[in-house]
Amino acid sequence: MNTDPKKRLARHIVGLPKSGIREFFDIVSTRQGVISLAIGEPDFDTPWHIREAAMFSLEQGATHYTGNAGLMALRRAIADYVQANFGGTYDPAHEVLVTVGASEGLDVALRAILNPGDEVLYHEPCFVSYGPEIAMAHGVPVPVETRAEDNFRLSVEALEAKVTPRTKALVVNFPNNPTGAVLEREDVEAIAEFALRHDLLVIADEIYAELTWGGRRHVSFASIPALHDRLILHHGYSKAWAMTGFRMGYVCAPAWMMDTILKIHQYAIMCASTASQYAALEAMRQPAEDMAPMLRAYEQRRNFLRAAFAEAGIPMHNPAGAFYAFPNISRFGLSSREFAVRLLDAENVAVVPGTAFGACGEGFVRCSYATGMEQLKEAAKRIARFVGTL
Ligand code: PMP
Repeated sequence: MNTDPKKRLARHIVGLPKSGIREFFDIVSTRQGVISLAIGEPDFDTPWHIREAAMFSLEQGATHYTGNAGLMALRRAIADYVQANFGGTYDPAHEVLVTVGASEGLDVALRAILNPGDEVLYHEPCFVSYGPEIAMAHGVPVPVETRAEDNFRLSVEALEAKVTPRTKALVVNFPNNPTGAVLEREDVEAIAEFALRHDLLVIADEIYAELTWGGRRHVSFASIPALHDRLILHHGYSKAWAMTGFRMGYVCAPAWMMDTILKIHQYAIMCASTASQYAALEAMRQPAEDMAPMLRAYEQRRNFLRAAFAEAGIPMHNPAGAFYAFPNISRFGLSSREFAVRLLDAENVAVVPGTAFGACGEGFVRCSYATGMEQLKEAAKRIARFVGTL
């Protein structure tokens, strides 16, 4: 008996929505000379000494696999960095895993903890991958709304409204993509207490940890000792070190959990790229020096955008972290998508419709300021001209 082979794909994957960002990029790619505020990666190149370390490792013959969890020297450096900057204590031998970007870390963590039908809370607007990744791991994604009025901070009341006896885990991402929101210590403590009370595992994606503005310091979920045994911490080199192409990230988790996470990584990935691991090891040598010029530039650009939007009459909450602004465009009477498409048409400036990050992103657009200041100035001028016509 012949069946249609096209019907033999995995149903839970076929049913996933396409990324809203992708759809918009397809439109952008048909045009010439666009100023793009749509990208989610640093405009800086990786600091030279880090690139050199990767090249040198190849020269030295580091062309083989490393251990599954990654180079021991790198895991030690990661444990030290996490201790110093996040306040969490992890044993480099058993509690640190080097991954192919934070993306792989999120995937292996979700696959390690979810049984079919387990519900996972995550807050929206959010990074486009969380919902699909939860679904790919046979979990049930349960979005929790955050709102501009609260500076897009995640409240325990909103979480309480969505938690059920089937909830297994909570995904949190601060500083946040796409809103630029950060949490205060009291928020982190309240969310941790919520997770403990409902017996939830916590997946903390803190990939933008170093990118906080106005003299703030990032408050990590790893700084809460009571959470340690149920926390999976995610970080990586893509953002603060401008190393997206190296595909380097890591997961920190208690040894009992890491055992299971490591099995998936071992069978699916074997180990992260060896040359990239040597680059990451070099990136751990003088992180503050490497990041300083980039962080200074991002903060200046953020300050510029806040002032420019205020002057153009575009309301915006305070984006205190990451490199995204998330202005509210609802007063102009267009949907997010219409606003983005018409802005592109009229002024050749690309921004991402807020709905790409969840339904509650309606009324907003994401503007990345991982873009040079000159381009940002020109984009702001064009956006002001565009909203003047609405
Ligand atoms: N988490 C968030 C919130 C992100 O914005 C990104 C990249 N856009 C990632 C994870 C993935 O980063 P990578 O895989 O490059 O480490």
